[in-house]
Amino acid sequence: MKEGVNSIKKKRGEKFSFSTAVLSWFDRHGRKDLPWQQSVTAYRVYVSEIMLQQTQVSTVIPYFHRFMEVFPDVNCLAAAPLDHVLHLWTGLGYYARARNLHKTAQLIAAQYRGFFPSSSEQLQSLPGVGRSTAGAICAIAFNQAEPILDGNVKRVLSRFYGVSDWPGNKKIEEKLWTYAKACLPLFRCRDYTQAMMDLGALLCTRTQPHCEGCPLKLSCLAFQSGEPARFPGTKPKKTLPVRQVNLLVIENEKGEILLQQRPSMGIWGGLWSLPECEENDLVMWCQKKFNLAIKQAKELSVFRHTFSHFHLDIKPIRAKVSSQALCVMEDQGLIWYDANAPQSVGLPKPICRILKMIEG
Ligand code: SF4
Repeated sequence: MKEGVNSIKKKRGEKFSFSTAVLSWFDRHGRKDLPWQQSVTAYRVYVSEIMLQQTQVSTVIPYFHRFMEVFPDVNCLAAAPLDHVLHLWTGLGYYARARNLHKTAQLIAAQYRGFFPSSSEQLQSLPGVGRSTAGAICAIAFNQAEPILDGNVKRVLSRFYGVSDWPGNKKIEEKLWTYAKACLPLFRCRDYTQAMMDLGALLCTRTQPHCEGCPLKLSCLAFQSGEPARFPGTKPKKTLPVRQVNLLVIENEKGEILLQQRPSMGIWGGLWSLPECEENDLVMWCQKKFNLAIKQAKELSVFRHTFSHFHLDIKPIRAKVSSQALCVMEDQGLIWYDANAPQSVGLPKPICRILKMIEG
């Protein structure tokens, strides 16, 4: 049976007000100068929330500034080509986020006349917007009493309530949602939501929580246990499979590199990558596939890129070609990429790394 909000409040003691403690800490120590906290609009909050999924604030800030300069409102984003959006996302990873961002902008422009809906249910119907992101938009953009449960908040609540299981477990996650709802204040939901994110990021950190400065410590079960970092439990370990790939760095006489666009679905969907070659005879393969004659080829150092569900060992092979017989057409998914005057296309991080390897 689900634990009710009232029984949780009772269990934690009526005298202690979780939200009051968190809000007064926020007034003294919370972050108030983040770029998306200025000129707050639902669009700015939405973009920041999508960028912040699996990415730290310090990484997101320059991306957010660049994004807002180019796409200051949802209609600009909706009207932009996807390649332009992926280009601005290059290096942030998890590119499905950028594709969903673009799709959502088009939906908002077409179905909501450019205005974000303010109900959590409607927000959750948008591509890439889950319950926590919808809650954050409701709370931060519209100051509504909606809970969030991102990684930081899961950690704070798990520790406060002494939840020692892994929060990725569905039942545990449901329990944490109940706690998140029970802790909400009646007023100042925007500040409270930001405060919970800040508490998780600044004090209740993963490995060494700074409990001495925490406004929750006197009622926190993890703190009372003496080993707060043991909470919550971690994901059961499983060994990731390893895959290998040869990526061909085909370079023409002008020093331009041949890039091929990935299919829109799957790994690096819609981004521009290097051609993958599974065959041993590179010369033959290159001739057959692109009508290009390889003059010389050299293997570069193998490196590993880890996705959530597998490791990819990448072997780049640099191949110089003598002719440019290939008539490269963007609509056929091929371009010659000039690193000195880069086209506005999205590149996966490992491809940026390879392009850096061959620089100079
Ligand atoms: S007292 Fe420590 S473990 Fe508990 S919420 Fe605060 S920082 Fe986290």
